Amino acid sequence: MQNFINVILPIPLEKLFTYKVTPEQANFLQSGMRVAVPFGKSKIYTALVHSLHNTAPEVYEAKEIHQILDERPIVNEIQLRHWQWIADYYMCTVGEVFRSALPSAFLLESETLILKNEKAEVDEGNLKDDEFLIFEALQHQSILKVHEVAAIVDRKNVLPILNRLIEKNVILLKEEIYEQYKPKLVRYVKLGLDYQSEENLEILLESLTRAPKQSQVILSLFQLKATTKKPIKISELELASGGSRAVVKTLIDKNILEEYHIRRDRVVYDGSAENAVLKSLNEYQEIALTDIQAAFKENKTTLLQGVTSSGKTEVYVKLIEDCIKTGRQALYLLPEIALTTQLIGRLQEYFGEKVSVYHSKYSVQERVEVWNNIVAQKPKAQIVIGARSSLFLPFSNLGLIIVDEEHEGSFKQFDPAPRYHARDAAIVLAKLHESNILLGSATPSIETFNNARTGKYGYANITRRYGNVLMPEMEIVDIKEQSRKRRMKGHFSERLLEEITETLEAGEQVILFQNRRGYAPIVECTTCGHSPQCPNCDVSLTYHQYKKQLRCHYCSHHMALQESCQACGSSTLDTKGFGTEQVEQELHELFPETKVGRMDLDTTRGKHGYERIITAFEQQELDILVGTQMLTKGLDFRNVNLVGIMNADSLLNFPDYRAHERSFQLLTQVAGRAGRTKKRGKVIIQSYNPYHQILKQVSTNDYDEMFKEQLYEREQYKYPPANRIIRITFKHKEYNKLNEAAEWFSKGLRNAFGANVLGPEFPPVSRIRNQYLKHVLIKIGPKQSVGQVKLNIKRIEKSFKAIAFYRSVRVIYNVDHI
Ligand code: ADP
Ligand code: ZN
Ligand code: ZN
Repeated sequence: MQNFINVILPIPLEKLFTYKVTPEQANFLQSGMRVAVPFGKSKIYTALVHSLHNTAPEVYEAKEIHQILDERPIVNEIQLRHWQWIADYYMCTVGEVFRSALPSAFLLESETLILKNEKAEVDEGNLKDDEFLIFEALQHQSILKVHEVAAIVDRKNVLPILNRLIEKNVILLKEEIYEQYKPKLVRYVKLGLDYQSEENLEILLESLTRAPKQSQVILSLFQLKATTKKPIKISELELASGGSRAVVKTLIDKNILEEYHIRRDRVVYDGSAENAVLKSLNEYQEIALTDIQAAFKENKTTLLQGVTSSGKTEVYVKLIEDCIKTGRQALYLLPEIALTTQLIGRLQEYFGEKVSVYHSKYSVQERVEVWNNIVAQKPKAQIVIGARSSLFLPFSNLGLIIVDEEHEGSFKQFDPAPRYHARDAAIVLAKLHESNILLGSATPSIETFNNARTGKYGYANITRRYGNVLMPEMEIVDIKEQSRKRRMKGHFSERLLEEITETLEAGEQVILFQNRRGYAPIVECTTCGHSPQCPNCDVSLTYHQYKKQLRCHYCSHHMALQESCQACGSSTLDTKGFGTEQVEQELHELFPETKVGRMDLDTTRGKHGYERIITAFEQQELDILVGTQMLTKGLDFRNVNLVGIMNADSLLNFPDYRAHERSFQLLTQVAGRAGRTKKRGKVIIQSYNPYHQILKQVSTNDYDEMFKEQLYEREQYKYPPANRIIRITFKHKEYNKLNEAAEWFSKGLRNAFGANVLGPEFPPVSRIRNQYLKHVLIKIGPKQSVGQVKLNIKRIEKSFKAIAFYRSVRVIYNVDHI
């Protein structure tokens, strides 16, 4: 009887792949362990064992695995089921889920390495030109990778050349797998074995009388040992003895001291304020908590709708405490990590070391450590705060998931596959764990609120701010009118300027919101109308004044700003529209004494980018903070009393069926940063459309009205939650081929689904990175089976891919959220 394993490969394959294993390997292997396997002609992948069995594959000869990479499973059954659901629901493969679920350090890479054959005597005259190039490169560099070779000879397919070189004995190939992850080791020191008895120690100290520095180090080690039972770090010893690295090293070399390493986790909590007592909830929070607990008893996904600053976080904390008391794990999902800085601090105050953080700005090593801690069910990973990818962690015993700011669009992953929505995938994960799940927001998504309204979800709400601070006072300023009367200073209305002045004079802070970064989105020649476009994408270049650059926000293209128009040569360049940079600059001119900060994608790069700005604003080193939507996300500043929205119109006019819902959410959230703790805050919204219904709903804080209107529109136009939608994107660098392919595919769709197919049509930005894009939208009615529709689409895709001419056209699915 032969032994086989089915594995998940980290590539988009429709099926699992089968490999042969020995009886010993079969005995050892379990589902969820990693193995290195050969694939195709020369590749090696890290694969995940899915199942063990005795049936040989029918259509191919199973290969043997190279090697087992784990001693115990690092992925569990629940994860595998969850990944399968994600793959089915979001129309991708389990391999793609696997690839994005694991920290990349877990996915060993095979790299074909090319080495010089040291023993060969090479006759250079016998080499062809391309062969010689490689030979020459190997004289300077001992190892080359395949892609480097490709660059040297400037062509893609280099395997034939490499084969010739192997035949001529010039090179050797080496397939090498390497673990990229290296745990961080901390160096510790102790007395060498020979000196641990007191007698020997005395002899030692005597022998060192003529080396006072060395004996000082030994004495310091003793003092340290007397005061702590913990291992002593080399760095500590150096500090305590005043001795240099060299002295310690000498002692180690003489075997008087012994160096050793302990693996230390990178994600450490340096515990200052552990175990603060939980705040006691006020009556409104108590009622909400009781309602939530009751809904949990009925196993319902539950929505907590609480106005901004109502103290939702304190309610979450209470639920987390209850959860971990029972020994189960808790996951706190956030849309983006901007808010974690403040939140991590808040949670660590209560739960100390039990809190781990997991997100993409953390290094690969840090992520591996969190992963391993969770596999080992260590107490320090009992509470995980993370962005969407933390859904993939190896939880075995989840008791609670909190999805904070559940309405946020950034819970959806758009690229690459799996294109999943973390809130929705979290609900499924909770089901698999039989865990509770709470969705929280001041401005729930239409879908979620609808589920609560119809009783599918449980519901709790808090309508008052904590401490009974009033909701901020809203004022809408008509900037069309103001512009006509020439009352605007730059992009500031008189009213906004008055309020800023007053707020600053009172020693309070201001937040200004503009949803575009850069200085101006368009540069235009007033003589001929030309405006610089990105050569790779179908968009205008945004002007960034700080670097005097024009940049594309879709690809990395950038160029220096020209002095004169590239089309007609006139020096009549002007800018249109404005971004955060311009707001910042105008503030410098209007309020020269005031310290202004800016928070957008350009100022928050790097792991601590956000933190720096948020802290500076918190510490009141800044008076005004200008920013994009990053500002909206749950930040809790105590001293902000004015929020200004520079221009609400660009949000409202966005061509998307969710634009109004999103505007309401964004504006309400930004407004919610004002006056959170003491007196009532003030919000000024500048707009060319002051009578827009959404602005009215924002200013009267009328969520229900907004919901009613939006739901009506969704029903009219067959959008979620009334219908389901799937968007198919076609992508190719040739315009004609794309058009033809999209039309072919859509015809198939129309045959299957009739009038529920919209498009194909070009999106507003129809070319990105030299790839043309075309969309088709499929609407699925409440009576249709979504699963069946997906199968039908997949079937059409299969016939489509069978046409050689179309094969290079990429087909991308986005389900529910587009
Ligand atoms: P939300 O998440 O609903 O916007 P937060 O949880 O950030 O609101 O609470 C707003 C502010 O009120 C925070 O500064 C928080 O510390 C404070 N707060 C909320 N609930 C309590 C409570 N029960 N006791 C003391 N302070 C509270
Ligand atoms: Zn011109
Ligand atoms: Zn571009």
